[in-house]
Amino acid sequence: MLDFNNILNYLEFINISTDDQSIFEWKPPNSYKSYMLDLNIVKQNRMSNIFFHLNKGNLKIVHIRKDKLIYSAGASNEIQFQLLEALIDHISIKFYEIWDVDYVLSYENFTPTVFNPFKKEVQEIIEKFHTLDLIKIINVECMVCEKILPLIVKVSLIKNAESYPVPIVFDHLGHSILCYIDKNFHVRGIELVNKTG
Ligand SMILES: [Zn+2]
Repeated sequence: MLDFNNILNYLEFINISTDDQSIFEWKPPNSYKSYMLDLNIVKQNRMSNIFFHLNKGNLKIVHIRKDKLIYSAGASNEIQFQLLEALIDHISIKFYEIWDVDYVLSYENFTPTVFNPFKKEVQEIIEKFHTLDLIKIINVECMVCEKILPLIVKVSLIKNAESYPVPIVFDHLGHSILCYIDKNFHVRGIELVNKTG
């Protein structure tokens, strides 16, 4: 069973980049893996303000382009995409709270090392993630597995929804269920959906 209170054990990297270069990177202690190739794929995507999900081997990668920056996070397969979205949302807000990012990037002699102190912030966000109330875990019953499964949903997705209930597709073990979540984070319906892609 996934320990949602200790997401550090599952995270592989967090990266903030411009189109030209990587300006911030966090990795777990003692990790020497490089994700630069994955990040190049991410950069080719020009669309802004939409979260993209990638499955790559044992890795799940989420990325989003906001203004001039591209945020990405990678974790092992047990982590759900909504959790990574919540983490990126929070990190992007903190990053802009601490720095006047556009101004710093415009320095003539800018080097990404200016953002090194942000590693401590990110480490803290990861360690305290379960106390930040950024996600909810909702039990849903899958009619295929005949099991109750934990569905992770980003709190902001429900709170900022334009209408209720909010539909969310839960992909797992090769099939998908469509779950309807109301504004109190209760399940209002579940159906099996067909998919392609
Ligand atoms: Zn199932």
